[in-house]
Amino acid sequence: LSYCKSLPKIELHAHLTGSLSDETVLRLLEAKRKEGAVNLPESAELTIQRGHNRTLEECFKLFGILHCLTDNLEAVKKITRDVIREFVSDNVRYLELRTTPKFIPDKMTKKDYIDTVLDTMIEEMKTNNIIVRLLLSIDRSRGVDDARNTVQLAKDYTTHEIYKTLICGIDVSGNPQSGKLTDYICVLEEAKKCGFRLAVHLAEIPSEEETLAVLKANIVDRIGHGTFIHLASGGSQELLDLVKHYQIPLEVCVSSNVKSGTVKNVQDHHLGLWRKEDHPLVICTDDKGIFSTSLSEEYCICAETFDLSKSDLIKMCISAVESTFLSHHEKHQLRLSIQDELNSLK
Ligand code: 5GP
Repeated sequence: LSYCKSLPKIELHAHLTGSLSDETVLRLLEAKRKEGAVNLPESAELTIQRGHNRTLEECFKLFGILHCLTDNLEAVKKITRDVIREFVSDNVRYLELRTTPKFIPDKMTKKDYIDTVLDTMIEEMKTNNIIVRLLLSIDRSRGVDDARNTVQLAKDYTTHEIYKTLICGIDVSGNPQSGKLTDYICVLEEAKKCGFRLAVHLAEIPSEEETLAVLKANIVDRIGHGTFIHLASGGSQELLDLVKHYQIPLEVCVSSNVKSGTVKNVQDHHLGLWRKEDHPLVICTDDKGIFSTSLSEEYCICAETFDLSKSDLIKMCISAVESTFLSHHEKHQLRLSIQDELNSLK
């Protein structure tokens, strides 16, 4: 673990609310208690420890509880700050956070929510050795109008003096058992036309028809999970061929998949199959709080399970740069600084 921790890493799949540590959740619970809230859960009930698992449905219930604890701008600022600092102490040098814009009557508009996240990112980048970018998440259970609104919000920021470079893409997430991804293709095409890169949760559960339609639209820049794509993990040759043809990088989140039961165990994780295809992969956490992990731990689990050498891990850190949503110039700069740091590690 200490070697994995020392690596300068890139995190590309981290949902803000799912990334809250125990300490942060405890503080949020304390704040709610002071407000007089009753029937609050214990913080331990909001994470899934090693060796335990829950169904995807149960995981989504946890998000609901966490959203109640973060329903004001003060909490949003705190969680953004804490999550960024935790990634910093795990030696993450580049972080793409993603979050669903929230509207809470009398407390915050979606714009207030995004402004607060962006302001906190700027503040934290001033004092910590990390670059942070944001993806706005479309929740597939909320309908196409809401998705269109999210893309419009992202567009509004592209002309903003300070914020314009900070939102680098759009994510599509939310409960894969609700809504049809195909309904969102037109909105996603619109987002692409506006220059946004797209990270889409695809084939998290068996869903060949919608996965095929989205892949054929040729709009996806990164795939979240992609569990049921490879022929040998319940997908099909056609899906596999499309992903290979377009060379779409996969964000792999091993603990998340195992603990939410979409992958039976670590050994069976599709990471092994895609490595054999020599396909671009980025190790990520997904929800480091809920799944009680860190990026270093995920590197460590992958190394132990798939027999990755130190040089394999180094290659993964460097190749992750290519999968970021940064510009060519920014990628070049990031690659140089990561390489520099890796050289001094040897
Ligand atoms: P937030 O957007 O509130 O910052 O982060 C939590 C949200 O991210 C959840 O409500 C859900 O929509 C999305 N999310 C987090 N983890 C997962 C995951 O593993 N799969 C999917 N499909 N969505 C997720």
